[in-house]
Amino acid sequence: MPVDARRTISDLRELRALTADDHGAQRIAWSPTWLNARAWFQDKLAGLPVEHHLDAAGNSWTTLQGDSERVLILGSHLDSVPNGGWLDGSLGVLAAFEVLRGLAEDFHGRPPITIRLVDWADEEGARFGRSLFGSSAFAGTHSIQADRSRTDRDGVRLEDALRQCQIDIDRIGDAGSERGQAGAYLELHIEQGPVLEAMHLPLGVVLGTKGVERHAITFHGQEAHSGSTPMGARRDALAAAAKLALEIRSLARKHPDAVATMGSVKTFPGIVTAVVGRCETTLDMRDLDAGVLASMLADAQEASQRFAAEEGCTVDWSRIWSIEPIPFNPRLIEYCDQAVRETTGASHKLPSGPLHDAAEVARAGIPVVMMFTQSLAGLSHNPAEDTRTEDLELAVQAFDRLARKTMQWLAQPL
Ligand SMILES: [Zn+2]
Repeated sequence: MPVDARRTISDLRELRALTADDHGAQRIAWSPTWLNARAWFQDKLAGLPVEHHLDAAGNSWTTLQGDSERVLILGSHLDSVPNGGWLDGSLGVLAAFEVLRGLAEDFHGRPPITIRLVDWADEEGARFGRSLFGSSAFAGTHSIQADRSRTDRDGVRLEDALRQCQIDIDRIGDAGSERGQAGAYLELHIEQGPVLEAMHLPLGVVLGTKGVERHAITFHGQEAHSGSTPMGARRDALAAAAKLALEIRSLARKHPDAVATMGSVKTFPGIVTAVVGRCETTLDMRDLDAGVLASMLADAQEASQRFAAEEGCTVDWSRIWSIEPIPFNPRLIEYCDQAVRETTGASHKLPSGPLHDAAEVARAGIPVVMMFTQSLAGLSHNPAEDTRTEDLELAVQAFDRLARKTMQWLAQPL
């Protein structure tokens, strides 16, 4: 029984009708609309030979028990950002659901291995600033202490929002017990970027998620009167920062997939009649290769010192956040490449700039791969987010192929 991709698309439309308004999807985690989306999904399970429960971190698990206890996990997230798109996360959950339905039919309710579908809780972190909440609890990489102090814009504590959803913040680590005999994790997601569209490819294979180095960089010069201070006597902190903002572009371009962004600049005193005495900036750099990331960081630090010296300034750096690159499993990358090629005739391998729940699952030591489907105009986290219907259909078919290849692998005796 081949998957019926049109059923996935009609499910997606149904979910959109239920959880979006004129401004886009409103499935913000822990909100009534998100709970509605989950209740809608649970209703869809009626009549299927599956077990369903929520774990200690609020992840939603649907299990089709197989002959063996070895587990293939398929999943993504139903939560969205405010005013979000209709496909981010929900495509992965509903495509996985279609695959699970197909396997249940094909194997008369009992496939050779156990198949589980997960809808991760709060992937987006849109309300409390904590992305990958449920998957990090599953992976054992979460930090309760940091989560305890989180509040939303209205001062509501994460801890209290969780309690409203029957989740005890002290016990979220118990979600680790779901790891069980997980042998692989597969996730289909929209690309959220422009690469596949530019190549005219409907689908791609994700090599892993890029590591991130995120730093605050502050240049210190001398505030001075803009009328009385000769050009040669200035110590202009903005001038030094501006040179760095231009330089990081060529630093990143030395590497094929690297990106570097200076996304914020604040000047002090920040008035029209003063030379800038202090300039606070941020730098975000990403690459799939830890060595590339380290060398970009060293280059940027060297350049910042050089430009500070040229402008009579000093510079200091402080790390805001960083995460190592997370490469996906080579065997699953190969299966994914085959599945994409067999479905569409062509394939392309690319790294993911955004983080995904799949990265947390990989950190738990479980073999992981993701498949991307083209995003029109590269847009996401935006109500205009879209993908061609025919590409969505190809995505569901290719994801089904990938799941079956992976199932065959996991069904072999260890
Ligand atoms: Zn997503």
